[in-house]
Amino acid sequence: MLISGGCHCGNISFALDWRPEPSEIPARACTCSFCAKHGGVWTSCPTGSLTVSVKDRTRLSKYAFGTKTAEFHVCNECGVVPVVTSRIDGRLYAVVSVNAFENVEPALLRRSPSTFEGEHEQARLSRRKRNWIADVQFEATG
Ligand SMILES: [Zn+2]
Repeated sequence: MLISGGCHCGNISFALDWRPEPSEIPARACTCSFCAKHGGVWTSCPTGSLTVSVKDRTRLSKYAFGTKTAEFHVCNECGVVPVVTSRIDGRLYAVVSVNAFENVEPALLRRSPSTFEGEHEQARLSRRKRNWIADVQFEATG
């Protein structure tokens, strides 16, 4: 399933090739202090591939906090956060926001809260390696 999404103004867009075809898509409402303020709900397909296209990199901010192991990609123009990345052992992993999806039936989303508070950094990185999208490419389209 080829999922497309992006920020509101179109500066950041993504194409997520979800393989194999999903019968449902987990949508994790993160309870961290940043996602609580943003309404962040994330998903990832560890066997899929993601291409993120950015028209103007100067209008993209990367925000990190806490352990600073993850970067939230924030559009400076419209404020939407379509993607989060984490570089682990030299490889780039990512999750995408289900709120930024443009062609997915809402009924396909299986929503659940998820709390990673208190998780140690090593456990956190191992979890991302297992669950996050491991094939991630960024391209400039501007
Ligand atoms: Zn935007």
